[in-house]
Amino acid sequence: MKRTRGAVPRATAFVLVYALYFAQMAAYGWGSLGHTDINQVAAEKIPASMPKFLRSKSAIQKIAYLGPEPDRWRDGAPSALNYAQAPDHFIDLERIEGLGPLPMGRYDFIKMLYAKRAATTDHPDNYLPDRVGFQPYITIEVLERLELAFRAYREMKQKKQKTDVIEGNIIFYMGWLGHYVADGSQPLHTTVNYDGWVEANPNGYTTQHGIHAEFETDFVNRVVSSPASFAGLVNPPQRVAHPFDDYLKYLWASNALVPEVYALDKAKAFDGTGTLESVKFLDQRLAAGSQMLVDLWYTAWLESAEPLPQRPSATP
Ligand SMILES: [Zn+2]
Repeated sequence: MKRTRGAVPRATAFVLVYALYFAQMAAYGWGSLGHTDINQVAAEKIPASMPKFLRSKSAIQKIAYLGPEPDRWRDGAPSALNYAQAPDHFIDLERIEGLGPLPMGRYDFIKMLYAKRAATTDHPDNYLPDRVGFQPYITIEVLERLELAFRAYREMKQKKQKTDVIEGNIIFYMGWLGHYVADGSQPLHTTVNYDGWVEANPNGYTTQHGIHAEFETDFVNRVVSSPASFAGLVNPPQRVAHPFDDYLKYLWASNALVPEVYALDKAKAFDGTGTLESVKFLDQRLAAGSQMLVDLWYTAWLESAEPLPQRPSATP
């Protein structure tokens, strides 16, 4: 997913707007195929202990279709919606390193970043929240929607009420969640080096734009012939003990693979149909997305059977 950056000078804004428009037409997060496949493979792993309607062919098809949904919200001329949700697709983890534990809510995270910006003299705008990104926040927010929908479903079942409307909502939340979880498995969605290396560069990695789309869209389109190519790497789901913290660990694990993406690019391993190594790397990244996704769905289902967790009281 190409990203828009905040605070551009007015003189260049017009040109940038059109450049970004065409960039987005060419490349959006994992590409449509990667997102669809990650969702589909995860949906095919939904265990028998979860509600039966989720294992129907139509539910799996809908969840797969929803994989690229948040990119459809970006696929057009610049809009309020586009600007509002573009930072949900990524996080520059290098910017939050050393800031301490992340707060639970996105607005406290924004305050934390503005405090860091105020205390920074070298490129303080690097800490603007829309430049750092909200990846883990949108993920946990959609996950919590899903858990609440599962709670409502359980309650309605108990009261022997019709559940078709809530079933539709559950499918939507599951599919929507899949988008962000999949973005998180793409290492270039977790780094300042998201499209060309910008940090100290002793290994001589490419500094050119283009590597992002080359890996997540062009290479995927050439190499992934069907979801089955990585489905075998995805295991039955396991409960995630601490969803927000464990999801952050998943993002850091993805971030640790950023140099490998650049090294493969340097070795021209994404050219054509790739090499054994680059195809394996891609399959493992796609599978990591499906695995975390089905794990989170399963976790939301299990948590929805338990009493609501005690949370600090909300401000009015
Ligand atoms: Zn995305």
